[in-house]
Amino acid sequence: MPARTAAGGGARMSTESLTLDDRAPGLASRLVTGALSDLGLLAETGRVPGVALLPHAHVVKIGGQSMIDRGRRAVYPILEEIRAAIERLYLVIGTGAGTRARHAYSVGVDLGMPTGVLTTLGTGVALQNARILAFLLAKEGVPLVLPNEFGHLPLYLAERHAVVFPGMPPYTFWEHNPDVGQIPPHRTDTGCYLVSEVFGAASMIYVKDEDGLYSDDPKRNPDATFIPRITVDELLDSDIPDLVVERPVLEFMRRAAHSRRIQVINGLVPGNLTRALAGEHVGTIIEAP
Ligand code: ADP
Ligand code: MG
Repeated sequence: MPARTAAGGGARMSTESLTLDDRAPGLASRLVTGALSDLGLLAETGRVPGVALLPHAHVVKIGGQSMIDRGRRAVYPILEEIRAAIERLYLVIGTGAGTRARHAYSVGVDLGMPTGVLTTLGTGVALQNARILAFLLAKEGVPLVLPNEFGHLPLYLAERHAVVFPGMPPYTFWEHNPDVGQIPPHRTDTGCYLVSEVFGAASMIYVKDEDGLYSDDPKRNPDATFIPRITVDELLDSDIPDLVVERPVLEFMRRAAHSRRIQVINGLVPGNLTRALAGEHVGTIIEAP
């Protein structure tokens, strides 16, 4: 622990050097001895600003159904953009699951599998896609990183500028039951989002097959209108019947310490990922201001 400067010298202390006790007197010891169900105590832990661990890295989710299932015509061009990007930038690349997961869910639901088991099926498909993308980036030395290997992520990023990981959060059998039905509520959009949040990444970019968010699913409603920018609250309050990202992402964004903005882009349009990584507003930006 850094030594404290003279008592009462707080006015001269930089915010950086403030200890837990400076910010919330007594909190350090109350955290050890107090009840962790005490909401007041829990609220005080929020006074300490969190450290953004990988602020130089961009989390990029490559869609399962929307991109990888389309095969070479969708995947090869996006990999070219990734290869060019990692000459300068740092990418944490998550994979979607897609149609094979949908098929597994359909068989699993028919056979009476609970949500936790269905989740392990979807997790397997996201891993299949991660293996494929990582091997396609083998010449660049980009490794596949599994959840229990995330401690190595900073090293791999420093060495190779990119990693690929399966986008499903590793809840497997511990996945929560959804409010409605049986399908795992936290899938690959959510898993990738949570990686951007916990590591305080520079951005969270979803690469899918539509220009971004519309007032309705553009595949089913040709009159749907494009929404270039929207807040999480506006979106959750809206009557948009179906969304371009999983709903839990929006709920998690509301209580995020770091990742309060996501961008959804059309990966079938050449150059979109490159532009988004350069900070340009392509696609839809969803923010929790
Ligand atoms: P991924 O393959 O990345 O998981 P999904 O297929 O789950 O992507 O989600 C992207 C799809 O969401 C789009 O192809 C689109 O058909 C659908 N979608 C549903 N509602 C909307 C909406 N309001 N705006 C845009 N796309 C939507
Ligand atoms: Mg999806």
